[in-house]
Amino acid sequence: MVPSAPSQAATCSQPLRWGTHENGQIPLSELSPISWAPGQWVQPAAAANLESLNTAYRARFGVNLAITDSYRSYDAQVRTKAAKGNLAATPGCSNHGWARALDLSGGIQDFGTAQFNWMRANAPAYGWLHPAWAEPGGSKPEPWHWEYWGGGSGVTSVAEPEPVPLSLSAPTSIIDAADRISLYATRTDGNLWGASQAAAGAGLGAWQIIGSRDAGVVGRPAVLRLSSGIIAVYARTSVGTIVGTNQTAVGGSFSAWTTIGAAGNGIASDPVATQLASGVIAVYATTVDGRVAGTSQSAAGGAFGTWTNIGSSTRALVGRPALVRYSGDRIGLFAWTADGHVAQTAQPVAGSAFSAWTELGTGGGGITTEPTATITGDRVTVFAGAGSTVATVTQPTAGAPFGAWINLGSGPVAAGDTTPAVIASPGLYSAYVLGSDRNVWGTSVSSTAPARGGWAQIGSGAALATALTGIRTSGGVNCVYGADTNGTVVGSCQTGPGGPFSGWVAL
Ligand SMILES: [Zn+2]
Repeated sequence: MVPSAPSQAATCSQPLRWGTHENGQIPLSELSPISWAPGQWVQPAAAANLESLNTAYRARFGVNLAITDSYRSYDAQVRTKAAKGNLAATPGCSNHGWARALDLSGGIQDFGTAQFNWMRANAPAYGWLHPAWAEPGGSKPEPWHWEYWGGGSGVTSVAEPEPVPLSLSAPTSIIDAADRISLYATRTDGNLWGASQAAAGAGLGAWQIIGSRDAGVVGRPAVLRLSSGIIAVYARTSVGTIVGTNQTAVGGSFSAWTTIGAAGNGIASDPVATQLASGVIAVYATTVDGRVAGTSQSAAGGAFGTWTNIGSSTRALVGRPALVRYSGDRIGLFAWTADGHVAQTAQPVAGSAFSAWTELGTGGGGITTEPTATITGDRVTVFAGAGSTVATVTQPTAGAPFGAWINLGSGPVAAGDTTPAVIASPGLYSAYVLGSDRNVWGTSVSSTAPARGGWAQIGSGAALATALTGIRTSGGVNCVYGADTNGTVVGSCQTGPGGPFSGWVAL
């Protein structure tokens, strides 16, 4: 399969990295020289396939490909931009800076020549493409400019991955019946990226863009595995709407993003979503005017209805709500209030309107993050960051009023800046947070009588930068994932049920 280059020249509104390197900052030691063109460098896989392409070109024209430009350092791109103006990409954005672009001459620099036409017919088999924006009629016609995107039928070495943008959002994890974990995160290019394990416990596969490109998604996505086994993802866009995509078959590719529900403008938070027993999906988020709004499908698989405000509230609600499903398929929602509390609402009966929002628990206040809610046997426990620590509150019994908030102790770190990731295991809830030292810290509390315990560092070698997502395998192993300061998604799992966590590894 021949991949396509983006239809637009790189505009670079987004920071990206190739490995650990920024555009134009790749050391030559990680690039490959072009054997017949001293001083020219490209990515190793691009170089290997360029050698094959050149062999074919030389067989046809009797000369080597004439290369006038290849990898350009950031400083060189600044000089090129100064010399060529609009003809050159903004420094920090060019595919020359990713060492995957070439400027060619020897006839290729003109449309319609035998050399150009041969290249257009033959180069894609070696992974080298003439991007659509550089075609006649494109936004910036440049016959000389070619880019390596891999994937051609004649490609002999592994394609270099597309530069992966910095992770913007904390990842969201989901696990399937075969214990294979998938992670989804929006990145600074406005796309949702996903990666999955091919088998339980295996490393994650390559990160790929999920759904159509350039949906403008931001923040942390809500991910559901539907009763059919299909994964559905809902995400906030930079213009304050919620969009959704789903696999078209179990394990298959994802549909183009579509806007969810009518009148869904003004969304301010990341969404939460659930699929009811009826198969209907419901999605909730807070709005710019401090309400929680929701929309649900008219029937299983049907269209989403108009967004409506959920419950009445005298307090402004902010951040991503937390959602639980009570028995009888009733939905409960918990939201951070602008004055530092947590408020709750629930459906009295399945499908009904929600009750008025009320303050959750007693002695609350000082809450500094969105809440996380867990439910066991219809009894809910809520966790949230509280200044330098995490606080929790629970119901003494199912259906009873919530008790007093408990401070889980400052422990060794200030941990109250990111929403806790909570994993339920028999008799225990384990909360994981990012500490101010960029390590991950965890504490476990009894799920029936939570009390302040100790915090322990989770794994070693982390430099985390986002909130975390946690998941428990069917074998009882807890795994925690987040994005590090390089924008790389990293993870750590227990070495066995209840055991210590492994060192953090890049995924
Ligand atoms: Zn160029």
